[in-house]
Amino acid sequence: MPSPTWSLPRVAIVTGGGAGIGAAVSLRLAADGAAVAVLDLDGDSAARTAAAIEGAGGTAISVECDVADLTSIEAGVATTVDKLGHPTILINNAGISPFERFLEISRESFDRVMAVNLRGTFEFCQLVIPHMIEQGWGRIVNVSSSSAQTGNFGHTHYSASKAAVIGLTKSLAREFGRKGITVNAIAPSFIETPSLHRAADGGHLGGGIEEHIPTTPVRRVGQPEDIAAACAFLCRDDADYFTGQLLGVNGGRVIV
Ligand code: NAD
Repeated sequence: MPSPTWSLPRVAIVTGGGAGIGAAVSLRLAADGAAVAVLDLDGDSAARTAAAIEGAGGTAISVECDVADLTSIEAGVATTVDKLGHPTILINNAGISPFERFLEISRESFDRVMAVNLRGTFEFCQLVIPHMIEQGWGRIVNVSSSSAQTGNFGHTHYSASKAAVIGLTKSLAREFGRKGITVNAIAPSFIETPSLHRAADGGHLGGGIEEHIPTTPVRRVGQPEDIAAACAFLCRDDADYFTGQLLGVNGGRVIV
């Protein structure tokens, strides 16, 4: 349905939409009027997000999809086109962030981090941009990380993959701006998701989640809805002069 956010009906793909940031982004885009394809490696969690959207009166499908596997990506995009129509919004959110000391990172771990965080983003863009070109309109938001801006202890492979996503974003923005497609990246920091809880439980945060509040300028822990709000803005019709940018959503924890 057309909405105040978009003059035409829009179809969105959100990767990693089963939990955390991806679930919040899926719910927000649906609330704003997009039909949302919720893709996740965990098909059950994707189905739960899609059910929540439908329960709230929105339109959604769920697809089990591994962003590290090209055949799975192709199937995810094809299912979206078949069931919802041409995707013109793409949120590359799925990511993994294992904490490993640099000298202990295996080639397999490096390759897996790159395959999920970088190659999956690259390949989704390759498969979805032709649909955007056909429609003469597109919005891509790639979820990077503040770790790409500042580095992070135990996160060399992760930070490198997320920094590469920023380079990919800026180059795509230059190449496809003339086609009505904007490409931006968001760099979250310290957003309360299953992943942040896993990091806290593993002792990687230097204390509990709440202990970071006094050093966060806005004095609270970030929530997935904070990223969803930024994402929703970047996808609006009237955000069309905003492209190639990295938007830090971090409560002031990183100011560059
Ligand atoms: P999360 O682990 O809580 O959720 C990630 C979702 O992605 C899960 O549903 C998971 O099943 C899915 N996923 C994982 N691998 C996948 C694959 N190969 N294919 C498809 N789906 C897959 O993570 P989150 O905290 O919500 O993070 C979302 C994104 O935000 C990630 O790219 C992450 O790097 C980034 N990020 C998060 C934070 C934070 O503070 N939470 C900070 C910076 C960046």
